[in-house]
Amino acid sequence: MSLDPKRTVAELKELRALTSDDNGAQRVAWTDTWLKAREWFKSKLKGLPVEQHFDAAGNGWVTLPGASEKALLLGGHLDSVPNGGWLDGALDEMAGLEVLRRFAGEFNGRPPVTIRLVDWADEEGARFGRSLLGSSAFAGTHSIEADRKRTDKDGIRMEDALRRCGVEIDRFPEAEREQQNAAAYLELHIEQGPVLESKQLPLGVVLGTKGVERHTVTFHGQEAHSGSTPMKVRRDALAAASKLALEIRSIAGKHPDAVCTIGSVKTFPGIVTAVVGRCEAALDQRDLDAAVLAQMHREAKEASERFAREEKCTVEWSRIWNIEPIAFHPALIERCEQAIRETAGAVHKLPSGPLHDAAEVSRAGIPTVMMFVQSLGGISHNKIEDTKEEHLEMSVRALDRLATTTVEWIQAGKAGA
Ligand SMILES: [Zn+2]
Repeated sequence: MSLDPKRTVAELKELRALTSDDNGAQRVAWTDTWLKAREWFKSKLKGLPVEQHFDAAGNGWVTLPGASEKALLLGGHLDSVPNGGWLDGALDEMAGLEVLRRFAGEFNGRPPVTIRLVDWADEEGARFGRSLLGSSAFAGTHSIEADRKRTDKDGIRMEDALRRCGVEIDRFPEAEREQQNAAAYLELHIEQGPVLESKQLPLGVVLGTKGVERHTVTFHGQEAHSGSTPMKVRRDALAAASKLALEIRSIAGKHPDAVCTIGSVKTFPGIVTAVVGRCEAALDQRDLDAAVLAQMHREAKEASERFAREEKCTVEWSRIWNIEPIAFHPALIERCEQAIRETAGAVHKLPSGPLHDAAEVSRAGIPTVMMFVQSLGGISHNKIEDTKEEHLEMSVRALDRLATTTVEWIQAGKAGA
């Protein structure tokens, strides 16, 4: 079979028709609709000389054995957020399948190296709040003890939901076996942001995923009656938090790709007749450079202490979660750039703000790179998520080129060097 990018678009539409409703894609991991998507995907493998199995974390693996056991990995995820879009994760998987078909066709079922396509389980963490679940098991960075007790909004335990799909959480470490012979990992994804569209470029090479520092910043003031407490003597915790919410714009603004967000603020007692005595703000800071991330964290901390003093409050910080910046492999970045240039004429290099399974694969020490295709309006995790069909087709061609040069790179013995 030769490469047919139009088939990828047609299959994505087929998947959309099968697993979406009026509100968008409903392929939430560990649900019946997700299992239906995986069944549908399996039906697409008929007639291909491949082996398929699921690992201990529920990741689906399709292997096209090659002359060498060394493997090129391609990946995506069929799961979606509730009311999600038709491309997030699914494009990666279906484009990967098209590339695998091309290798099977061109080399009479036996390419020079082994080609493996993975459908990561539960990339989104939409139901239990744990993203990159399957890929972290693969990478050996799972958090089984913290995860098993997680519950969904109906009180169903994560451990039980996984068991219903044939996955035992205690066996997650066995998924690390799939790392064997993995020489490189490629992932195509929609950008989910506005950068490529603003530059009028269809494709970009991803330099890495930004590191994240996520904290709860709690300001303590004094609850007091809204009617009787003069403005001058108030210790208003919300006033201090508000100053920080504005200050993070200039803290992030010093660096071209840095972002800082206060996405949630809770006030206590939270009634209109009381000055806010306690305010909990959730702060998320991201950058590709660890030094920049550390600087932003320090500056936000100093600013919060200053604002607390100004408002006669105190402040305390507690870390919710963090991950280090993950830079992709220089040799693969170079090849990705070249593949895009040959396919689309021009290329842009950018970091990824959202995390992806590719970050976990890279953490496992496997040379990795990602390619982004333009998102219309920069919108994702929404049923209106979209990309021009000509750009989708171009992305399949560019991924295919990148796969070809990556196979050459693996054959030349440079992978892992
Ligand atoms: Zn995704």
